[in-house]
Amino acid sequence: MPLNFDLHAHSTVSDGLLSPTDLVAYAAKQGVDVLALTDHDDVSGLAEAQAAATAHNIAFINGVEISVTWKKRTLHIVGLNIDPHNAALKNALALVRIARDERAQKMGEGLAKVGIADAYLGAKRIAQQSIITRVHFARYLVEQGLVKDTKSVFKKYLVKGKPGFVEHQWMDLEQAVNLINQSGGSAVIAHPGRYDLGSVNMLQLLHEFRGYGGVAIEVVTSSHTPPQYQQFAKLAHQFSLKSSQGSDYHGKGLSFMEMGRLANMPAGCVPVWQDWPQFAHA
Ligand code: AMP
Ligand code: MN
Ligand code: MN
Ligand code: MN
Repeated sequence: MPLNFDLHAHSTVSDGLLSPTDLVAYAAKQGVDVLALTDHDDVSGLAEAQAAATAHNIAFINGVEISVTWKKRTLHIVGLNIDPHNAALKNALALVRIARDERAQKMGEGLAKVGIADAYLGAKRIAQQSIITRVHFARYLVEQGLVKDTKSVFKKYLVKGKPGFVEHQWMDLEQAVNLINQSGGSAVIAHPGRYDLGSVNMLQLLHEFRGYGGVAIEVVTSSHTPPQYQQFAKLAHQFSLKSSQGSDYHGKGLSFMEMGRLANMPAGCVPVWQDWPQFAHA
């Protein structure tokens, strides 16, 4: 049996519902052999997850999902096999989190203008000590009985053009790739099919990303349809990029799929873990 890899998942350190320990236990129960924790803009759950993975006898990959602005769009760059103690990476992510909090306060002001009071404080309470994300705002509005589910909150309040949306400048693509490379990791474009870039911009993104030293794109992810697996497998091949796979699991009700149930990569894909000595032949 080939190893079951899931290289994209979230815990309560960002917008997931399970603690790092519970996430790893769930992954093990679902038959995942190799798990990466990739919280948004934060590496502080990795030590706990690593300890839990050791206890459950599964392999663990240190990861992160960095928010990036490229051509006025938000992209997500996953770093896999990073060193969570790397000072440059940690310092840069700390700055992103400060800006995230300022953005959240502005989101609260936008929502107040349409009569939703205290959304910043409510989202902050739900986030507890973690970073504050749009998911925490969505959970607050659902909790208050204002909207029926988180998906509908995004549609009505949290996407471009809606009252809780705030234009935000995240990290540069080049800086994100550099930080991942400097900390010994592999940079991966997360769920490329989700950005609605158009084919010219997509080709430019892949070209630029590779030029900065990015090595892979997610081909199999819960954000892609099976035809998109084929589409991105082809693009990976065209740009000599490796392929990654991950569920992007956030917890029950926040996820499109369970863990450990990913489709196989299309034939011909070179998996990103081929660069990692311990899995080069997996
Ligand atoms: P943020 O980084 O604060 O902008 O939050 C982004 C997160 O919100 C993503 O990582 C997803 O977990 C979640 N998200 C984005 N769009 C949607 C959507 N349409 N429905 C549900 N969750 C979403
Ligand atoms: Mn998320
Ligand atoms: Mn993402
Ligand atoms: Mn994610």
